[in-house]
Amino acid sequence: MAAREPSQVHVAVVGGGIIGLVTALGLLKRNIPVKIYEQARSFREIGAGVAFTANALECMALLDPVIVDAVNAVATTNGEDKNNPNDYLRYHDGYNWDPNDIEGSDDKLLGLLHSGYKGFQGCHRANLLDELVKYIPSHAVEFGKRFTGYDDRGPTKGLLLHFLDGSTAEADIVIACDGIKSRVRQLILGADNPASHPHFSHKVAYRALIPMDRVLPVLGVFKSFNQHMHTGPRAHILHFPVAGGDFLNVVAFIREIEDWPLDDPNKVGNMTKPATREEVAAAFRGWGPTVCKIVDLLPDNIDKWAIFDTYDHPAPTFVQGRVCLAGDAAHASSPHHGAGAGIGVEDALALCTLLEKVATTISQDPQAEKGMIIETSLKIYDKVRPPRSQWLVKSSREVCDVYEWVYPDTLTDWDKCLAEITTRSHKLWYFDFDGMLKELHDSYENCLPSKSGGNNPSNGAQVKMGNNVIPVS
Ligand SMILES: Cc1cc2nc3c(=O)[nH]c(=O)nc-3n(C[C@H](O)[C@H](O)[C@H](O)COP(=O)(O)OP(=O)(O)OC[C@H]3O[C@@H](n4cnc5c(N)ncnc54)[C@H](O)[C@@H]3O)c2cc1C
Repeated sequence: MAAREPSQVHVAVVGGGIIGLVTALGLLKRNIPVKIYEQARSFREIGAGVAFTANALECMALLDPVIVDAVNAVATTNGEDKNNPNDYLRYHDGYNWDPNDIEGSDDKLLGLLHSGYKGFQGCHRANLLDELVKYIPSHAVEFGKRFTGYDDRGPTKGLLLHFLDGSTAEADIVIACDGIKSRVRQLILGADNPASHPHFSHKVAYRALIPMDRVLPVLGVFKSFNQHMHTGPRAHILHFPVAGGDFLNVVAFIREIEDWPLDDPNKVGNMTKPATREEVAAAFRGWGPTVCKIVDLLPDNIDKWAIFDTYDHPAPTFVQGRVCLAGDAAHASSPHHGAGAGIGVEDALALCTLLEKVATTISQDPQAEKGMIIETSLKIYDKVRPPRSQWLVKSSREVCDVYEWVYPDTLTDWDKCLAEITTRSHKLWYFDFDGMLKELHDSYENCLPSKSGGNNPSNGAQVKMGNNVIPVS
């Protein structure tokens, strides 16, 4: 990054996954200098599907409309006719069936949930990343930079970032988007703190992209091109089309009783392990013919993903001074709401909104204490974002139990199950982002040195935010 100018906020984003990229795009849109430091030699994503719900798409539009363009360029509409999307999520009984009535009894529809217009569109992750990267200028990224730590040289001098290759860089603020095994979370919370590390949810996911020409003769047109969730006892299978309908994204979730230690060197990538279709077939033996046909479509060799999250030990804070966590680094969730990335997009919008305000303040007032104002804005972020993102982590675990007929309040009462899924999904999708932006705005205005007199963060040890008084140092 070029020498830091006192009148600007120089942002370092650690990690170039989906959240690092959308955060950087939101900052660039606001003319805030940013550099992404990514440990890999290039941007990369896995060959699997990801879908975005309404809340994520709305926040993307506010970050920078090019992000929505990128999603639209690769998103696959749910339904056979892309001009006439089928905007319903479908929940089926994948387990019960009558062997004497195969045609009629298999795969009973239990409920439909309207997702809103194009409210659930599947994207091929690697394709999405390729589209997003088109909007990142080359000066805004450095590859091969594995972040290892930082020195805080005080509010005026900023932060000195250290990388594994021995190099350093300067920034006024670090936004850590370094994913579920975040190094920055360990630095903020302490390596011995259980909240510094993700924990196994005792679920594993088998993920595959299956060419549609193999799928269509087996599942037929409707099942192939429409999202389906096949529910059942202690397991479930989700599928939806991606890549313009060229592939079916299939994810089969099952329970794993044994623990999954993260440091076991025998586990490939620590969170994944090679597995076989036979292993999946054994878990779904006795389920209905439709589920068995889907399992038969899986490749002989398939990756098994351990689902880790932050449910057992949520981070008590996302912030230390001028360093903050966003996306999975802050609140990695199990994927059962299909919303881990989406909630990270909300983080990105909150941070870009606050930093735009900081940038305006310091450009208008050369005497303003930049470091202190950044710290104050991050305290606002740390108050506004954790309740919702940590709710997602908890609700995602619980909604999985609903799909798998073990949630105590719903069990196999499908009317109750659908009501539970609907309430939780609506809380997620119909996010009051205007309310979030107003809360950020009001809190920031309340803390501004020029407007809040006694709350001047540079004069005292605390700032007032809404009804709360928050210590600055
Ligand atoms: C089975 C499954 C299905 C899912 N489906 C959905 C879905 O449909 N919708 C949805 O919204 N979410 C979904 N999610 C969740 C979603 O995948 C994640 O929330 C999202 O990818 C997190 O993005 P991120 O940018 O925070 O982290 P990551 O994608 O993990 O990116 C982290 C980046 O940081 C880099 N990095 C790490 N450490 C360092 C370091 N020390 N220095 C420099 N760089 C570093 C990494 O190389 C990587 O590029 C799913 C998750 C799973 C497991």
